[in-house]
Amino acid sequence: MRMAAGINTGTVIQKGIREAMAGAVELILPYRCALCGSVSDTEDRFSGYDSLYKDLYGKEPALHICGRCLSDLNILAQEKRWSLCLTNPVANDVCPGLALYMPFPYKGIVEKAVPEIKFGKEMELARFFGCLLGSCLQREGIRADVIVPVPLSEERMAERGFNQASEIAYPVAEINGIPFADDLLIRLRDTGRQSEIRDNNERVRNVTGAFGVSGLWDLTGMTVAVVDDVVTTGATLHEAAAALYKAGAYKVLCIAFAGNRYIKNAEPF
Ligand SMILES: [Zn+2]
Repeated sequence: MRMAAGINTGTVIQKGIREAMAGAVELILPYRCALCGSVSDTEDRFSGYDSLYKDLYGKEPALHICGRCLSDLNILAQEKRWSLCLTNPVANDVCPGLALYMPFPYKGIVEKAVPEIKFGKEMELARFFGCLLGSCLQREGIRADVIVPVPLSEERMAERGFNQASEIAYPVAEINGIPFADDLLIRLRDTGRQSEIRDNNERVRNVTGAFGVSGLWDLTGMTVAVVDDVVTTGATLHEAAAALYKAGAYKVLCIAFAGNRYIKNAEPF
Protein backbone atom coordinates (compact mmCIF):
# COMPACT_ATOMS: atom_id res chain seq x y z
CA MET A 1 0.00 0.00 0.00
CA ARG A 2 1.33 3.42 -0.91
CA MET A 3 0.95 6.26 1.58
CA ALA A 4 -0.21 9.60 0.14
CA ALA A 5 2.66 12.02 0.30
CA GLY A 6 2.50 15.38 2.03
CA ILE A 7 -0.29 14.68 4.54
CA ASN A 8 0.44 15.78 8.07
CA THR A 9 -1.16 12.98 10.10
CA GLY A 10 -0.96 15.09 13.28
CA THR A 11 -3.16 17.77 11.71
CA VAL A 12 -5.63 15.16 10.42
CA ILE A 13 -5.96 13.63 13.91
CA GLN A 14 -6.39 17.05 15.52
CA LYS A 15 -9.07 17.94 12.94
CA GLY A 16 -10.83 14.63 13.69
CA ILE A 17 -10.79 15.34 17.43
CA ARG A 18 -12.14 18.84 16.85
CA GLU A 19 -14.99 17.47 14.71
CA ALA A 20 -15.78 14.76 17.28
CA MET A 21 -15.81 17.37 20.05
CA ALA A 22 -18.08 19.64 18.02
CA GLY A 23 -20.44 16.68 17.51
CA ALA A 24 -20.36 15.90 21.24
CA VAL A 25 -21.16 19.51 22.10
CA GLU A 26 -24.15 19.35 19.76
CA LEU A 27 -25.37 16.19 21.50
CA ILE A 28 -25.27 17.94 24.87
CA LEU A 29 -26.30 21.37 23.60
CA PRO A 30 -28.63 20.59 20.69
CA TYR A 31 -29.94 24.03 19.89
CA ARG A 32 -27.73 25.65 17.28
CA CYS A 33 -29.03 28.91 15.83
CA ALA A 34 -29.47 28.65 12.04
CA LEU A 35 -28.73 32.37 11.69
CA CYS A 36 -25.76 33.18 13.92
CA GLY A 37 -24.53 29.64 14.63
CA SER A 38 -24.51 30.08 18.42
CA VAL A 39 -25.20 26.93 20.44
CA SER A 40 -27.29 26.89 23.60
CA ASP A 41 -28.96 24.41 25.92
CA THR A 42 -32.24 26.30 26.04
CA GLU A 43 -34.91 26.71 23.43
CA ASP A 44 -35.90 30.26 22.55
CA ARG A 45 -38.52 29.56 19.91
CA PHE A 46 -41.63 31.66 20.08
CA SER A 47 -44.12 29.94 22.36
CA GLY A 48 -46.11 27.14 20.83
CA TYR A 49 -43.98 26.86 17.67
CA ASP A 50 -43.03 23.22 18.25
CA SER A 51 -46.60 22.02 18.75
CA LEU A 52 -47.84 24.19 15.87
CA TYR A 53 -45.16 22.78 13.54
CA LYS A 54 -45.92 19.22 14.67
CA ASP A 55 -49.62 19.76 13.96
CA LEU A 56 -48.81 21.02 10.46
CA TYR A 57 -46.01 18.70 9.40
CA GLY A 58 -46.25 15.70 11.77
CA LYS A 59 -42.71 16.10 13.14
CA GLU A 60 -40.54 18.35 15.27
CA PRO A 61 -39.14 21.48 13.59
CA ALA A 62 -35.47 21.22 12.65
CA LEU A 63 -35.00 24.99 12.84
CA HIS A 64 -33.67 26.77 15.88
CA ILE A 65 -33.20 30.53 16.11
CA CYS A 66 -31.59 31.91 19.25
CA GLY A 67 -33.22 34.49 21.49
CA ARG A 68 -30.84 37.22 20.37
CA CYS A 69 -31.71 36.74 16.69
CA LEU A 70 -35.43 36.39 17.50
CA SER A 71 -35.40 39.69 19.33
CA ASP A 72 -34.14 41.31 16.12
CA LEU A 73 -37.42 40.35 14.44
CA ASN A 74 -39.65 43.29 15.30
CA ILE A 75 -43.27 43.35 14.23
CA LEU A 76 -44.56 46.63 12.74
CA ALA A 77 -46.97 48.80 14.73
CA GLN A 78 -50.58 47.70 14.25
CA GLU A 79 -51.54 50.63 12.02
CA LYS A 80 -48.64 49.98 9.65
CA ARG A 81 -49.37 46.33 8.88
CA TRP A 82 -52.02 47.04 6.24
CA SER A 83 -50.90 49.26 3.38
CA LEU A 84 -51.46 49.79 -0.32
CA CYS A 85 -49.84 47.12 -2.46
CA LEU A 86 -48.23 49.33 -5.10
CA THR A 87 -45.60 51.92 -4.21
CA ASN A 88 -46.47 53.95 -7.32
CA PRO A 89 -49.97 54.01 -8.81
CA VAL A 90 -50.03 52.88 -12.45
CA ALA A 91 -52.15 54.39 -15.23
CA ASN A 92 -55.46 52.55 -15.77
CA ASP A 93 -54.85 50.36 -12.72
CA VAL A 94 -57.14 47.32 -13.01
CA CYS A 95 -57.22 46.88 -9.24
CA PRO A 96 -56.78 50.32 -7.61
CA GLY A 97 -56.50 50.54 -3.82
CA LEU A 98 -55.24 46.95 -3.60
CA ALA A 99 -54.59 46.10 0.06
CA LEU A 100 -51.40 44.50 1.33
CA TYR A 101 -50.89 42.93 4.76
CA MET A 102 -47.23 42.88 5.71
CA PRO A 103 -46.44 42.68 9.42
CA PHE A 104 -42.61 42.67 9.49
CA PRO A 105 -40.12 45.28 8.30
CA TYR A 106 -37.39 44.11 5.94
CA LYS A 107 -34.57 44.72 8.39
CA GLY A 108 -32.86 43.00 11.29
CA ILE A 109 -32.50 39.25 10.78
CA VAL A 110 -34.83 39.28 7.76
CA GLU A 111 -32.55 41.57 5.78
CA LYS A 112 -29.11 40.70 7.08
CA ALA A 113 -29.10 37.05 8.00
CA VAL A 114 -31.71 35.42 5.79
CA PRO A 115 -29.51 35.41 2.67
CA GLU A 116 -26.86 33.73 4.81
CA ILE A 117 -29.03 31.21 6.61
CA LYS A 118 -26.96 28.12 7.27
CA PHE A 119 -27.15 24.35 7.46
CA GLY A 120 -29.66 24.00 4.57
CA LYS A 121 -32.46 25.46 6.67
CA GLU A 122 -33.91 27.85 4.04
CA MET A 123 -37.18 25.94 3.68
CA GLU A 124 -37.50 25.57 7.45
CA LEU A 125 -37.03 29.33 7.81
CA ALA A 126 -39.79 29.99 5.25
CA ARG A 127 -42.08 27.68 7.25
CA PHE A 128 -41.16 29.50 10.46
CA PHE A 129 -42.02 32.84 8.80
CA GLY A 130 -45.27 31.28 7.57
CA CYS A 131 -46.21 30.22 11.10
CA LEU A 132 -45.48 33.73 12.41
CA LEU A 133 -47.44 35.34 9.56
CA GLY A 134 -50.33 32.91 10.00
CA SER A 135 -50.53 33.73 13.71
CA CYS A 136 -50.53 37.47 12.94
CA LEU A 137 -53.38 37.03 10.45
CA GLN A 138 -55.33 34.90 12.88
CA ARG A 139 -55.34 37.81 15.33
CA GLU A 140 -56.32 40.07 12.43
CA GLY A 141 -59.34 37.86 11.70
CA ILE A 142 -58.59 37.47 7.99
CA ARG A 143 -61.45 36.17 5.84
CA ALA A 144 -60.69 34.55 2.47
CA ASP A 145 -62.07 31.61 0.50
CA VAL A 146 -58.68 30.40 -0.67
CA ILE A 147 -54.98 31.17 -0.12
CA VAL A 148 -52.58 31.00 -3.06
CA PRO A 149 -48.81 31.50 -3.16
CA VAL A 150 -47.08 33.55 -5.87
CA PRO A 151 -45.70 30.79 -8.11
CA LEU A 152 -42.08 30.46 -9.22
CA SER A 153 -41.14 29.80 -12.81
CA GLU A 154 -40.08 26.23 -13.60
CA GLU A 155 -36.50 27.44 -14.04
CA ARG A 156 -36.36 29.09 -10.62
CA MET A 157 -38.11 26.12 -9.01
CA ALA A 158 -35.51 23.75 -10.46
CA GLU A 159 -32.73 26.05 -9.27
CA ARG A 160 -34.04 26.47 -5.71
CA GLY A 161 -35.89 23.19 -5.13
CA PHE A 162 -38.83 24.77 -3.32
CA ASN A 163 -41.08 27.81 -3.56
CA GLN A 164 -40.48 30.10 -0.59
CA ALA A 165 -43.89 31.81 -1.07
CA SER A 166 -45.60 28.42 -1.01
CA GLU A 167 -43.81 27.35 2.20
CA ILE A 168 -44.92 30.64 3.81
CA ALA A 169 -48.50 30.44 2.49
CA TYR A 170 -49.22 26.87 3.60
CA PRO A 171 -49.01 27.50 7.40
CA VAL A 172 -50.95 30.76 6.90
CA ALA A 173 -53.78 28.77 5.29
CA GLU A 174 -53.69 25.95 7.85
CA ILE A 175 -53.58 28.21 10.92
CA ASN A 176 -56.52 30.23 9.62
CA GLY A 177 -58.56 27.25 8.41
CA ILE A 178 -58.59 28.54 4.81
CA PRO A 179 -58.14 26.17 1.83
CA PHE A 180 -54.64 26.30 0.29
CA ALA A 181 -54.21 26.05 -3.48
CA ASP A 182 -50.77 26.09 -5.05
CA ASP A 183 -52.07 25.01 -8.46
CA LEU A 184 -54.43 27.96 -8.91
CA LEU A 185 -52.10 30.76 -9.91
CA ILE A 186 -49.74 29.93 -12.76
CA ARG A 187 -46.47 31.63 -13.74
CA LEU A 188 -46.72 32.08 -17.50
CA ARG A 189 -43.12 33.17 -17.96
CA ASP A 190 -39.91 33.65 -16.03
CA THR A 191 -39.43 37.29 -15.10
CA GLY A 192 -36.00 37.09 -13.51
CA ARG A 193 -35.36 38.74 -10.19
CA GLN A 194 -37.45 41.85 -9.48
CA SER A 195 -34.99 42.81 -6.74
CA GLU A 196 -32.32 43.37 -9.41
CA ILE A 197 -34.42 46.00 -11.25
CA ARG A 198 -33.95 49.52 -9.91
CA ASP A 199 -36.61 51.45 -11.85
CA ASN A 200 -40.18 51.18 -10.48
CA ASN A 201 -41.86 51.48 -13.89
CA GLU A 202 -39.55 48.82 -15.29
CA ARG A 203 -40.52 46.50 -12.39
CA VAL A 204 -44.19 46.90 -13.36
CA ARG A 205 -43.40 46.26 -17.06
CA ASN A 206 -41.25 43.25 -16.19
CA VAL A 207 -44.09 41.34 -14.50
CA THR A 208 -46.93 42.44 -16.82
CA GLY A 209 -48.78 39.35 -18.04
CA ALA A 210 -46.57 37.04 -15.98
CA PHE A 211 -49.48 35.24 -14.28
CA GLY A 212 -52.57 33.32 -15.26
CA VAL A 213 -55.21 31.25 -13.47
CA SER A 214 -55.65 27.52 -14.01
CA GLY A 215 -58.71 26.70 -16.11
CA LEU A 216 -59.70 24.21 -13.42
CA TRP A 217 -60.70 27.06 -11.12
CA ASP A 218 -63.76 29.27 -11.20
CA LEU A 219 -63.10 32.25 -8.95
CA THR A 220 -66.45 33.95 -9.44
CA GLY A 221 -67.46 35.67 -6.22
CA MET A 222 -64.42 34.42 -4.29
CA THR A 223 -62.13 36.34 -1.97
CA VAL A 224 -58.56 35.24 -2.71
CA ALA A 225 -55.53 35.92 -0.52
CA VAL A 226 -52.28 35.84 -2.50
CA VAL A 227 -49.05 35.35 -0.55
CA ASP A 228 -45.42 36.28 -1.28
CA ASP A 229 -42.30 36.35 0.88
CA VAL A 230 -40.82 39.85 0.56
CA VAL A 231 -42.34 42.92 -1.11
CA THR A 232 -40.33 45.79 -2.58
CA THR A 233 -42.63 47.86 -4.81
CA GLY A 234 -45.57 45.42 -4.78
CA ALA A 235 -45.50 45.02 -8.59
CA THR A 236 -45.42 41.20 -8.49
CA LEU A 237 -48.33 40.86 -6.05
CA HIS A 238 -50.26 43.52 -7.97
CA GLU A 239 -49.84 41.60 -11.22
CA ALA A 240 -50.87 38.33 -9.53
CA ALA A 241 -53.96 40.11 -8.16
CA ALA A 242 -54.79 41.46 -11.63
CA ALA A 243 -54.79 37.88 -13.01
CA LEU A 244 -57.06 36.74 -10.14
CA TYR A 245 -59.52 39.60 -10.76
CA LYS A 246 -59.48 38.82 -14.49
CA ALA A 247 -60.47 35.24 -13.60
CA GLY A 248 -63.54 36.53 -11.74
CA ALA A 249 -62.33 36.98 -8.14
CA TYR A 250 -64.63 39.20 -6.09
CA LYS A 251 -61.80 40.50 -3.88
CA VAL A 252 -58.06 39.96 -3.66
CA LEU A 253 -55.95 40.53 -0.56
CA CYS A 254 -52.18 40.65 -0.88
CA ILE A 255 -50.12 39.21 1.95
CA ALA A 256 -46.36 39.22 2.44
CA PHE A 257 -44.10 38.39 5.33
CA ALA A 258 -41.87 41.45 5.09
CA GLY A 259 -41.18 44.61 3.15
CA ASN A 260 -39.46 47.93 3.41
CA ARG A 261 -42.11 50.56 2.81
CA TYR A 262 -45.51 51.61 4.03
CA ILE A 263 -48.30 53.40 2.17
CA LYS A 264 -51.30 54.66 4.11
CA ASN A 265 -55.02 54.40 3.43
CA ALA A 266 -55.58 50.76 2.61
CA GLU A 267 -59.02 49.32 3.22
CA PRO A 268 -58.47 45.61 3.70
CA PHE A 269 -62.05 44.40 4.16
ZN1 LIG B 1 -28.83 33.48 16.59
